[in-house]
Parts: sequence; structure tokens; C-alpha cells
Amino acid sequence: MLGNLKPQAPDKILALIGEFRADPRQGKIDLGVGVYKDATGHTPIMRAVLEAEKRMLENETTKTYAGLAGEPEFQRAMGELILGAGLKPETTAALATVGGTGAIRQALELARMANPELRVFVSDPTWPNHVSIMNFMGVPVVTYRYFDAETRGVAFDAMKQDISAAKKGDVVLLHGCCHNPTGANLTLDQWAEVASILEKTGATPLIDLAYQGFGDGLEEDAAGTRLIASRIPEVLIAASCSKNFGIYRERTGCLLALCDNPATKELAQGAMAFLNRQTYSFPPFHGAKVVATILNDAGLRADWQAELEEVRGGMLRLREQLATELRDLAGSDRFGFLAEHRGMFSRLGASPEQVARMKEEFGIYMVGDSRLNIAGLNEATIPVLARAIIEAGV
Ligand code: PMP
Repeated sequence: MLGNLKPQAPDKILALIGEFRADPRQGKIDLGVGVYKDATGHTPIMRAVLEAEKRMLENETTKTYAGLAGEPEFQRAMGELILGAGLKPETTAALATVGGTGAIRQALELARMANPELRVFVSDPTWPNHVSIMNFMGVPVVTYRYFDAETRGVAFDAMKQDISAAKKGDVVLLHGCCHNPTGANLTLDQWAEVASILEKTGATPLIDLAYQGFGDGLEEDAAGTRLIASRIPEVLIAASCSKNFGIYRERTGCLLALCDNPATKELAQGAMAFLNRQTYSFPPFHGAKVVATILNDAGLRADWQAELEEVRGGMLRLREQLATELRDLAGSDRFGFLAEHRGMFSRLGASPEQVARMKEEFGIYMVGDSRLNIAGLNEATIPVLARAIIEAGV
């Protein structure tokens, strides 16, 4: 039977990791996979995470099953982190999931349970796994224009035009902040215009919030999501704790379904717990407990926020330095967008040939669409990258 399986194309980003490891060159630079790294190339465990784990080790007395939909303390803390004072527990269903990916998958399953004719509108480009999951599920994907290849900003008029074609029963997938892979984001005024279009069409937004705290700050990065939540009666939010808590391998995420009345919330909550039961039964406990421990303890929370701010500030400084270096080398401001973009990624706008040349000649690894992981850089490697970008003719 298993011999009937068709070979799967390897995930391009994960394949790049293997290629990078196999490269014997000393000065190679990994700007591929989306993991935060400090200046030494290490992905550290955050201080508050270590402390929370220490407390858990001291205090936990059982490993028996916990909640099928997750623990209320985690759901509540995540709801508040994302929605702030706008959280309405009586109409918000919440589910602990296997990372942000699990939240996206369960959101799509939930939407399809509610509407078997589901279509999903996604930005062009988007995180490739969005499209891959939808294709695997057999959910039709409609792309909306998003990235302006000339300015490397958001092609907002085109985006508005394209998402206006969504109808009630469709889902429009939006990146809450730090758009992956482009780094180009909506302004708050633009979020308000998107909300108006969603109001008019009746389509349901699904907000993928994988980088809260990596862009302009914890509150700022949630502002678009909060605006949508304040205006649209039904909103799905798929949040990941992988990046902002640095707990990638613990697989921690959360799906929120904001409903317009308590009866619908109960329906959604039941369906979401059912989806966990059908897929993997109980969600992972450890990472969710770490997150809840941090968010519900003033001291740990302050320390976590301080460290997250260091991480965010470090990435902004790298952006500034790279943009400055390129301004000097290019003698123009055409790479200024690198300092405007937010989050871990920027789409450089290089051709596949230029990306290949940077890899072959300079040992610089980025995703084929010229997505750079800014956190893969440090003060010493920025000049090397800048020179490669210019010499490759970008
Ligand atoms: N959404 C986006 C846009 C992402 O970049 C990622 C991680 N690469 C995820 C969701 C999923 O994150 P997780 O590792 O928590 O499943």
C-alpha cells in the first residue's frame, strides 16, 4: 500500500537548512529559515521561559491529561495579550493548538465545517505553508495582490480591489503584523479600510498573528487585529507563541474565534474542542503552561517583555545598518525599504538568478523568492551581504 505514495516535494525553506549545513565554506551566512538568532547565531531560551520552567519543575505533581481545548488560564492570557481590553470572554471561543500552524489548520477546519463551500483569500505572496495546507485540504485558494515589486511596499489599491471580491462565507487571511515573507505591512488607516471592505462583503477575516512583539511592539503589533475585532462580528485569530516566547519546539499556539453572541460562541467552542479531539486529542501542555505562567506573573511578564524588546530593537538596528550600508554602496535610497519593513523578514526583490549567485559566490543563503531573515545577520556580516547584493546586481 505505502508503495503507492507519491514523492512529496520537500519544503523549500527546510531544504535550504540542509543545503546550508552541507556547505563547507567558513564565512557562509544563513538568512533562510524563520528562527530568531542572536548576534552569535544562537537561538536562546528566554530568561522568563527558563524561570517559568524551573517553577513548573518544582511545583508540578502530575502529568495526567489536561484540558482538551487547553487550560483556561492560557486561553485567557492569550486573549488578553492579543485583544487587550477588547477581549470579550462571553463571546470568544479559544483553543490551545499545536503551534501557530495547528491554529491555522484548526481555523480552516472550523470554517469548512461551518461552510463546506469555503474559499480562502490569501495575499500574494504569503507563507507557503498557508497555501500548501489549503491545497492538501482541498480548500480553494484565491490570491489577492499584496506586494508592490517596485516599491517593496504594500500594493494597497490592488489589495482592496481583490479582497472586495470576497463574499459572505469566504475567509480572508490577513497577516496581523510582520508579513511573511515580504516584511511590508498595512498602516492602521489601511486596516480600517480593510475592515470597511469586510463589513461590506460579510467575509470572515482569519488573522495569522505569528510575530506579535517582533515589529513595532506588543501593543502596536496587535493594533490591526484589535481594530478588526472591534468592527467585524466574526473573526478568527490564529496566534503562535513560537517566536515571541522563543519556544518553537514546544509547539504552542492558540485559535480564537470571536463570535457575535454567546450561543454561537458555545457552538464554536464545542466544534473547536471536537477538532482537537479528532486530530490529536489533547494539545501540548508544556509550552502553554510556560506562556500562562509568564503572562500571569507580573515579574516574569516584565522580564519577558524587556527581553522581547531587546530582540525587537536588535532587529531594527540590523535593518537600519543594512539600509545605511546599501545607501553608501548604491549611492541611492533604493534599499530604504529594508528599514521600513518590520519583523524578521524582508523580501529583497532579487531575481532567482541573483539569489543563486549570492549563494554560490558569497555563501549567502536566502529563500528563493529573496526573503531575508534579518535576524540571521550581525554587524560583521551586514557589509558582506550589502556587497553581495550590489555585486549580484539587485
Ligand atoms: N504563520 C506564519 C506567517 C509563520 O511564519 C509561521 C512560522 N514560520 C507560522 C504561522 C507557524 O508557526 P508555528 O511554528 O508556531 O507553527
